[in-house]
Parts: sequence; structure tokens; C-alpha cells
Amino acid sequence: MKILAVGRNYLEHIKELGNQTPEEPVIFSKPETAVLRNNEPFYYPDFSQDVHHELEIVLKISKPGKNIEEKFAHKYYDEIGLGIDFTARDLQSKLKAKGLPWDLAKGFNDSAPVSEFVKKENYDLKNLNFNLDINGERKQTGNTSLMIYSFDYLVAFVSRYFTLKTGDLIFTGTPAGVGPAKPGDRLTGRLAHRGLLDLEVK
Ligand code: MG
Repeated sequence: MKILAVGRNYLEHIKELGNQTPEEPVIFSKPETAVLRNNEPFYYPDFSQDVHHELEIVLKISKPGKNIEEKFAHKYYDEIGLGIDFTARDLQSKLKAKGLPWDLAKGFNDSAPVSEFVKKENYDLKNLNFNLDINGERKQTGNTSLMIYSFDYLVAFVSRYFTLKTGDLIFTGTPAGVGPAKPGDRLTGRLAHRGLLDLEVK
């Protein structure tokens, strides 16, 4: 199982980090050991003082495929969920400044908590709200209509490079409002008002 993720898929988030709008999706991956399930607590890593939350909608691949055409991409995932792309922002900034890969900042243990998955047909994928509260305060609000690259475009795009296998996860990018998560915080994520994520930072 692998985790593929897209960076810079929501304009407001690109602006808040001062990044350039990409001409193609910015893709990175996280190892399987990054996955954290069942709302288990996230233990703050000792190599960072600035771990940021990035709430994202996650697609779960339902059958193998490569070189998938965009018009058929919807057949390759039938469930969606929420995930947090935890990012050691201090480490990432250092690596980016040197032009080095982000793996340490993005792929560390438990850096990819994911919620339970729900059937996609119950949701309007082109106009889907999702949000993140920390300790009851709204921090991130997103809507899929604001994505630069759609779910189907992303599935088709990554499948040109990586053969997708059943169970693979695709993180589809974070909206604006990213910021630090601290020990003691409780992160709750909703997908169209349905609470799916509820995890504590320790
Ligand atoms: Mg992200």
C-alpha cells in the first residue's frame, strides 16, 4: 500500500505559504508507516517544533490501474475519507531552501492519520465541504469546488507514473488555514457535517 499526496491544490493555501501556482500537480508520497488509523493519538515528534495540520480529503483506490483516462478515473475509487497531512514545517522549510526532497518533513511515522471511509456516491464530490476544528475552534474550511485539480484528474495523473493498487490512498490537498498542532490539542474533522476524524495530539 502506498500514499500519494498532492501539494498546492487550493489557491488560498498556495498564497498563505507564498508558493507559486503549479503548472502540473505537485506530487509526493508517504510510506505505509505514516498511516495512523482509528483516531489513535498522534505523538508529537522530537525532531520538530512546528508540526502543522493539513486537513485533506482522501481517496481510497478500489481496483488496480495504470495510465487511467480521466473520464474513467471515477471507477477506480468508491470511498472517500478525511486525512491529516502532518508536516514538520520547520524541517520542510530548511529542505525546500536547499532544494532537497521533503520526505523527512512529510513522511515520518504517523504523519498521515486517516478517518474511516464512506461511500462516495452519498456525496456531491464537486461541491463538498470539509472542515477542521482544534479544541472546538474552526481552523480550516474547504470545499472541493475550489480545487485546482479534480479528484478524477489527480487519479489519472498519478496513474501515469505509479501503478495504483487496491487500498492505495491519495491525499488531495489542503485548503487554507494550516497551522501548528500542539500536544494537548484535539483535532476534529468533518466531511459535509459528518464527524469522521477525532484525534488527540500527545
Ligand atoms: Mg498536504
